[in-house]
Amino acid sequence: MTGTTSAELHQRYRAVLPSYVKPLYAEPISIERGRGSYVWDVEGNRYLDFFGGVLTTMVGHNNPVVTGAIQSQAAKVLHTSTLYLCEPMIELAEEIAALSGIPDARVFFTTSGTEANDTAILLATSFRRSNEVLALRNSYHGRSFTAQALTSHSSWSSTAISGLSVSFVHGPYRLRSPFRHLDDDGFTEACTEDLRQVIDMMTTGNAACLIAEPIQGVGGFATPPDGFFGSLHKVLANRGILFVSDEVQTGWGRTGEHFWGYQAHDMVPDMLTFAKGVGNGITLAGIVARAEIMDTISALSFSTFGGNPLSAAAGLATLRYVRERDLQGNALRMGTRLRDRLLPVVERTPWIAELRGKGLMQAIEMVQPGSIQPDAGRATDLLEGCKRRGLLVGKGGLYGNAIRITPMLDVAEAEIDEGVTAIVETIQQMDREV
Ligand code: PMP
Repeated sequence: MTGTTSAELHQRYRAVLPSYVKPLYAEPISIERGRGSYVWDVEGNRYLDFFGGVLTTMVGHNNPVVTGAIQSQAAKVLHTSTLYLCEPMIELAEEIAALSGIPDARVFFTTSGTEANDTAILLATSFRRSNEVLALRNSYHGRSFTAQALTSHSSWSSTAISGLSVSFVHGPYRLRSPFRHLDDDGFTEACTEDLRQVIDMMTTGNAACLIAEPIQGVGGFATPPDGFFGSLHKVLANRGILFVSDEVQTGWGRTGEHFWGYQAHDMVPDMLTFAKGVGNGITLAGIVARAEIMDTISALSFSTFGGNPLSAAAGLATLRYVRERDLQGNALRMGTRLRDRLLPVVERTPWIAELRGKGLMQAIEMVQPGSIQPDAGRATDLLEGCKRRGLLVGKGGLYGNAIRITPMLDVAEAEIDEGVTAIVETIQQMDREV
């Protein structure tokens, strides 16, 4: 323990950080250390971590293999830049290119998901000679000026000013979609028709790309039917419009069924972007694109920290850890266990509209009973109740009324059961209080 308290740190945080940066909880906590799926705050309280700092600690806190790789790289050299031939970066690029499914793939490393998406838009608009971009409703793609223009989520949109001309098409947030009464095929067809109309009515017909999250992260894990993006992709491909898959949250096996989110949709994107989990907490992000698209830029380009030896070493160790232990398979098994145990409770709780997601990416959305009127208050109560029971989960959703549950990819059965008990007990207590 450090001698300080979470309360004291909260005061100092509030005094020096911008007001738009907000910690979770009425009484925010300061995490001092972690091990596997558990963290301890500065007061010594232990929590089971089912959020991983927003899906970023992916293979457990202080994972000995990843921490060891970081320590041994740190003892050699921290930074060299792309001016020199950094072996961990080259190796990581080779592995990601081979895994991406994108033919003739090139990889460019950045420091954040935002910068990766920014790069994708730079490439798409240059390659297609168009400033027109398509994105989905309820999307989040980052906080830069470019990425904000692609974000259609009012609580996360800090500006509408942009040099891009962005049109938003209907996406997978089915609970609040005008097409929600349709079955899977009908829903996909209605959204595909909407895409056709938006292209024909709201663009010159020559849009650069569509950018989409296979499962919308900040948007509360809105999940489309399988094949949904394949259907949109056909419309785009016919017109030469590129598809960018934002895999910042869905990558590296988290959805259980597939390594990348796009693989549930019988299509291959022209580019994909990644970030969050691949460094297990160390800053690492990037973009994969076909060479003809990546090399469309003839000016020199450079990201000072992108692919630095330390983050590349963390990325290589994390990626190998995921693959060697088949953590995608674990995500499928543990995600199914999580869903199977939560579903009956969700179905009999009138203020929970639905459980949605795939693998270890599950969300529940809170509403006023008998309606789809969002109930952010209940989401806060659920978040706080879980914390009192020693479980950290996340919030999200268009109206801040969804709870996001994203255990580590190497989570154990007993940990899933412990987390489910905390969630179910909290729901039961909230039910008694109604
Ligand atoms: N895309 C998605 C889907 C995200 O969830 C996020 C972060 N929440 C970003 C992009 C931006 O990533 P970063 O915060 O690393 O810039």
